[in-house]
Amino acid sequence: MAVTTRLMKPRAHIEASAISWKGKFLLPPGAFDTHVHVFDPTIGPYAADRAYTPDDAPLHRLIEFNKSISRDGTGSGIVLVQPSPYGTDCTVMMKCLRELRARQKSVYAIAMIELESITDRELERMHELGVRGIQLNFQADGKGLDVSRLLDTLQKAADRICHLRGWMIQLFVPGWAWNTLFDVVSKLPVPIIADHLGGMQGAPKLLSHVAKDGVLSQMGFISLLTLAKLSKVIVKISGLYRASDRTTACFDDTREIIEAFAKEIPDQCIWGSDWPHTGEGKDRTKQRSLSTMEPFRVIDNRALLENLRKWVGSEVWGKMMRENPARIFQ
Ligand SMILES: [Zn+2]
Repeated sequence: MAVTTRLMKPRAHIEASAISWKGKFLLPPGAFDTHVHVFDPTIGPYAADRAYTPDDAPLHRLIEFNKSISRDGTGSGIVLVQPSPYGTDCTVMMKCLRELRARQKSVYAIAMIELESITDRELERMHELGVRGIQLNFQADGKGLDVSRLLDTLQKAADRICHLRGWMIQLFVPGWAWNTLFDVVSKLPVPIIADHLGGMQGAPKLLSHVAKDGVLSQMGFISLLTLAKLSKVIVKISGLYRASDRTTACFDDTREIIEAFAKEIPDQCIWGSDWPHTGEGKDRTKQRSLSTMEPFRVIDNRALLENLRKWVGSEVWGKMMRENPARIFQ
């Protein structure tokens, strides 16, 4: 009996410490997942001119996922992002926003709007319900980026929303675009959320001569950092699979980029899971049938969070998960 007790004690001790260490990789209380989508054709139709038809991702599955990555199992704050297949019809997103708010969730949203036709009253109504910005979607179809059209739209969008407290413009553009956008963004009256690492790419995805000089030398990187230091840009650490093909290695070629963000702009980083992890835009062509549902990627979010926590360290982790989004989304 005495022997059994001696054997049990150290084992129990090891298990307890392993659990608490593992728990550190999950979202702490007060954290925010700032990039998730709901795809539910039963509560709202997709746009006729969409680039793809996603698989289903209803709200109850989002809630389950959100609980599964939070340390205490109750879920984190959430930012819903209007996904491109719904175009500018935000019915589904707004319904989910209302439903989550009714459950006392800390939840906000980034909408897509028809800049020319939306009224001030409609924008104010969106604000009251928790919308804090709009997304300009310039490459969901995987085609090239029309920079002059983007610059023009950016200015118009900023003028349209700048009177709304706390509103931002979310952009997913290739990393090089920050050089071209620099002057306009540095003068915009609203901050920009640079989605998915600001479009920066891991070394294997870069041209060999760029990769040889290091990933931090890729075009646009310094511009992005500078804009963030000027508080003009917030970088969203999300969608690492858009920057890296190294799925089984947990996208470790993005490490240097993320470490640089953590070191240089710790107060301007936020995190988003990008659940349910939509596929790759480059495969989307007009020839492809919209009746075929595009499957989601299979992502090990727990492993991904574990890596991120190790890469950025505990202090920046707290800022990125909790303090920064709590300051930015109010
Ligand atoms: Zn997304």
